[in-house]
Amino acid sequence: MKSFADAALPPALLKALDSLGYQRPTEVQAQSLPPMLAGRDVRVQASTGSGKTAAFGLALLSALRTDTAELQALVLCPTRELADQVARELRGLARFIPNVKILSLCGGVSVRPQLASLQAHEPHIVVGTPGRIEDLIKRQALPLDRIHWVILDEADRMLDMGFIEPIGRILGQLPRERSTGLFSATYAEEIRQISREFQHEPVEVEIAGQAADVSIAQHFYKVEKQDKPAALQALLGERAPSSCLVFCNTRIDTRDVAARLQAAGFSALALHGELDQRERDEIVVQFGNGSCQVLVATDVASRGLHIEGLPMVIAYELPTDPAVHVHRIGRTGRAGESGLACALVSGREQGRIQGIEALTGMKLSWSALPNRSGKPQRPAMKTLIIDAGRKDRLRPGDILGALTGAGGLRGDEVGKIDVFATRAYVAVSRERAPSVVRALRQAQIKGRKFRIRDI
Ligand code: AMP
Repeated sequence: MKSFADAALPPALLKALDSLGYQRPTEVQAQSLPPMLAGRDVRVQASTGSGKTAAFGLALLSALRTDTAELQALVLCPTRELADQVARELRGLARFIPNVKILSLCGGVSVRPQLASLQAHEPHIVVGTPGRIEDLIKRQALPLDRIHWVILDEADRMLDMGFIEPIGRILGQLPRERSTGLFSATYAEEIRQISREFQHEPVEVEIAGQAADVSIAQHFYKVEKQDKPAALQALLGERAPSSCLVFCNTRIDTRDVAARLQAAGFSALALHGELDQRERDEIVVQFGNGSCQVLVATDVASRGLHIEGLPMVIAYELPTDPAVHVHRIGRTGRAGESGLACALVSGREQGRIQGIEALTGMKLSWSALPNRSGKPQRPAMKTLIIDAGRKDRLRPGDILGALTGAGGLRGDEVGKIDVFATRAYVAVSRERAPSVVRALRQAQIKGRKFRIRDI
């Protein structure tokens, strides 16, 4: 499974994945989701950070019937913190499915409100710790007869905490016609034993390396509006990312922020909805080929950008909709790569943090701004425009040939080549750009002379 669209997921889940900014499945998801969607038992070796929660979450939610209020899935976790986190992630994935009730039931708090909540509305999914779940079963507060999915999350930690016996007793009471997912970072003999006893021909999934697939470091900075331009420059100077997308909530801000960055010596451009197609193309090309370090954009304008795995994104301001912020974060640190997501938050915007915490299931903390700001960097590349394109039958190979021939460049001094209908853009090493332009003005491409200049 290469993309989420390859799996037969209901539209509401695809929409949720989109709004959460999960564009590609992680390794665990790619390998474990297809068998789970087919109702197979799975035994997955995966640790926190691998995306395992969404892997089983998507399977549970795909198989859920919400036209009846019946308990259909049970997730057992070692700790209350993990159970709460799993319940939040499930709610995030279920945000476009109406009337789903997901309840977290753990020990350490009074059982009374839990009993009352179970009586008022039967949940569809329960996430809890084994001790409390067993207690609720004994009190006949949890109807087990419709459960068709059970997940043991972080089974090795549950074992360490002495939950092995309650788990056995709980599983022994569930309907036999069900699917069981066993997730664990390590596989001790006792866990294999549980698998042998309670699983039916499980599909085994092992993720090599065990490193987190998705690692995005998030930093939130308290900065009042008037101090944001300086804070932005300090962050860009200190981190010196090869490229960075800065999000603003309005078009006017994108222009203003980009202009201030330019004045401070940064290579920055603004992308917003009021540009014509050619202006837009030229900005996107320059950002995509490494000629422009910082792109300042509105959320809408950045949507069509096919630039993935950016090393850094910065929210100049928090959006009112938390899903938009999660989408922004999702532009950095794609599976397997690390990313940095920063947000500048004024006192007025601090109320928006809660919504983001609820949606991401993460407790956010504040970071301190760097004291000293580094110097603006010059991008490594510069973009040249050639006034000819596909209509002139100009192909990337012709341009590369001219640059390495008459232009005198080495292959590695030529970057990305974008050919449009009537124009072409090519990135070349910044230092060599003036001499290349001079040389190519004298030379021919495909036996013809074309206008060429830099931007
Ligand atoms: P987990 O291993 O379940 O604790 O997930 C680790 C983090 O990765 C969580 O913050 C998820 O929100 C995030 N995540 C899960 N799946 C994806 C995905 N396909 N793309 C991007 N982020 C993801």
